[in-house]
Amino acid sequence: MFDNLTDKFDRAFKVLKGQGQITEVNVAETLKEVRRALLDADVNFKTAKDFTNQIKEKALGRDVLTAVKPGQLLVKIVQEELAELMGGEQEDVDLKGNPAIILMSGLQGSGKTTFSGKLANYLKTKKGKKPLLVACDIYRPAAIDQLHVVGDQIGVEVFSNRDEKDPVKISQAAIQYARSNGHNVVIVDTAGRLAIDEQMMNEITAVKRAINPSETLFVVDAMTGQDAVNTAKAFNERLNFDGVVLTKLDGDTRGGAAISIKSVVNKPIKFIGTGEKMEAIDLFYPKRMADRILGMGDVVSLVERAQENYDEEKARKLHKKIAKNEFSFDDFLDQIQQIKKMGNMKDLMGMIPGMGKAVKNLDIDDDAFKGIESIIYSMTPEERNDHKILNGSRRKRIANGSGASLQDVNKLVKQFEETRKMMQLMSNKKNMANMMRQMG
Ligand code: GDP
Repeated sequence: MFDNLTDKFDRAFKVLKGQGQITEVNVAETLKEVRRALLDADVNFKTAKDFTNQIKEKALGRDVLTAVKPGQLLVKIVQEELAELMGGEQEDVDLKGNPAIILMSGLQGSGKTTFSGKLANYLKTKKGKKPLLVACDIYRPAAIDQLHVVGDQIGVEVFSNRDEKDPVKISQAAIQYARSNGHNVVIVDTAGRLAIDEQMMNEITAVKRAINPSETLFVVDAMTGQDAVNTAKAFNERLNFDGVVLTKLDGDTRGGAAISIKSVVNKPIKFIGTGEKMEAIDLFYPKRMADRILGMGDVVSLVERAQENYDEEKARKLHKKIAKNEFSFDDFLDQIQQIKKMGNMKDLMGMIPGMGKAVKNLDIDDDAFKGIESIIYSMTPEERNDHKILNGSRRKRIANGSGASLQDVNKLVKQFEETRKMMQLMSNKKNMANMMRQMG
């Protein structure tokens, strides 16, 4: 995410490296680079200019403590201002009303339907809600099918009526249905067009007026940069939405949309989409995003994600097994599942400070574990439980069964044995202390 921008900021701050203090000259030079970085990231010109002017004022007005270097101070100021520019505090969706009604808007292809599913899944699993998804795209039958597929995937009911051609009536009927069937949140997915047009705007404003949602969200593809900002502006003028959803932040996004939308429409970004899977949804935290843009990683999000998916009971059991040298391929598989639950690997690694750049060009995807998993799945329960019985002929059979080479199987078994040894060593506190001492 935003790798290019991160690199350029890094370069801008290098100007101040080795400089003893902040002066008009060196700040101006750094900020020229910062502004260029922002413009290259497709940040709107006025936003970039106002931003750098503000930083200049703050930087020159602040006393440099002897403990911090000018470069560090400027990074800090840029981080604070960047967070402010993107909205300051995190803002959640408004779920008042029973059912709470959420209206989704945006152009076709922005990721509206996918996000409707992600949001329903989020509200169901994280907030204990019982959502109802509503298909209001009366032009594309495929869009209705798509919402049904999404609904099935996450176990959320979908309301649709293929014979009704008035989205206002469909959404009103859906709300009635929700009331009588105990749904406490209704998410209305509307029709989008490839470009802004009058009929679409009229239609969605009519739906909004009729159902009076507690939250109207505008979904936009972050990859579209300045266009995203312009589309947001047009939708906001007609719809006066409450919040923005930025999708496809997992792609090679330049960052302009994330940085400028708030200052242009004065509405907060509430969620981000970071992949095609239903779990790839995150709340938008301006400060954390600023940290990521500046290459400071996003340790807080990483830790939170880990905590959400961490099963303490399981961990305790595992620890015992390791200590008793009973860690098996089944446990190994279980560990892989746990890691996978935390989300896209590259995304996760990008949250570690300094790792963003390192993983930028690596081809890590969710399939990274696939080979390993299929080898383990090709083992019999007995083999998974006791890897020592894996002789030559068993290994050959496993290779055939999983489509891997014998070499791959041997490599995995060897890795597993080493991991096991290491884990056992570390589970013993005395050994651990010794190891630390050896490492100095
Ligand atoms: P809609 O026309 O606005 O309803 O858009 P869709 O939900 O059909 O999404 C359009 C395409 O973008 C689909 O192929 C989705 O899988 C993909 N998509 C949606 N959200 C994301 C995201 O956050 N990241 C990525 N990489 N793809 C996404």
